[in-house]
Amino acid sequence: MKKICVFCGSSDFVSDSYKKAGREFGKLLAQNQIGLVYGGASVGIMGEIAEGTLEKDGKVWGVIPQSIVDLEVAHDGLTDLYIVDSMHERKKKMYDISDAFFCLPGGWGTLDELCEIVTWAQLHFHFKPCYVINQNGFFDHFLKHLEFACTEGFMKKEHLKLIRVFETYEEALENFKTKY
Ligand code: AMP
Repeated sequence: MKKICVFCGSSDFVSDSYKKAGREFGKLLAQNQIGLVYGGASVGIMGEIAEGTLEKDGKVWGVIPQSIVDLEVAHDGLTDLYIVDSMHERKKKMYDISDAFFCLPGGWGTLDELCEIVTWAQLHFHFKPCYVINQNGFFDHFLKHLEFACTEGFMKKEHLKLIRVFETYEEALENFKTKY
């Protein structure tokens, strides 16, 4: 079974449109027999995606540090919940067991994971595809900044292609299915 690792917001204080899209995306993964790998939390869009996948009898692997489990935000109904010692161990595990990465709207944690996985791709530590779901133009400013980094010589234009940007998760998933 192919597995997609999803990076997305843990905040509950976002518009319902983001939560709804998260839940629908989770359902779509299950309907396509694709497993979900994510941070293992029950909050924000993270929780919504996991619920969506489980609702359609899909498989969900969560990877979470013990310290976050202690905050009682771990999801207790997953197919499997790996409890690890640190955030670094957690990210390595999520990256290792997944076939692709989908970044949905989120905050620091989401941007950290996206930037790290793309950096690893740039260094050829992996060759797995990285998708950005630009729902509501959420990443427009970020993408503009990346272009500016190219203009200023900090980034190679060819490395911008390491992210595949789609407006919707449906289009991104279709692209993943046809190419991988
Ligand atoms: P943020 O975008 O700051 O809300 O952080 C979300 C991202 O960071 C997710 O993709 C998770 O992998 C990770 N993360 C943040 N908060 C948690 C949490 N409470 N439990 C597990 N992972 C989290």
